[in-house]
Amino acid sequence: MFENYTLFEAALEKRLGDQMRADDEICKQVWSAMANVDWYNFERELSVGYTFRHASEVIYVIIGRYDDLKWYCCAPPAVISPLVGMSLKKEGWIGDILPEICEHPDCIQRQMRGFRSDEGPMLSLCNEHYDAYQRGVRW
Ligand SMILES: [Zn+2]
Repeated sequence: MFENYTLFEAALEKRLGDQMRADDEICKQVWSAMANVDWYNFERELSVGYTFRHASEVIYVIIGRYDDLKWYCCAPPAVISPLVGMSLKKEGWIGDILPEICEHPDCIQRQMRGFRSDEGPMLSLCNEHYDAYQRGVRW
């Protein structure tokens, strides 16, 4: 049912498990690479994404030690070190650390403001389009 997560975590275990069990620094790198990052396996058409807490739990499982909150926010989120990035790429997984993009159809600026639109759904815009929206501009 959760084949995508099983495969991602098997790739982590295979490529980095021994290093993680031996070195807390590698665990921190793995947490950073998992937390708030979307990972894609294009060959298998799979993706996974981990919350801060879920990323911590995967580390506990791999290293076989439970230390409450030790890995939660142990390093900056959404940073993929060369070791972790290349190790997972070897197993077919690519992490997307590009920022979320403004929802205006013609814009590629970073999202800065998320809010509930007057029309109902949530909208996330760059500062420029947020200001325009607040002035009543629609597109
Ligand atoms: Zn924009």
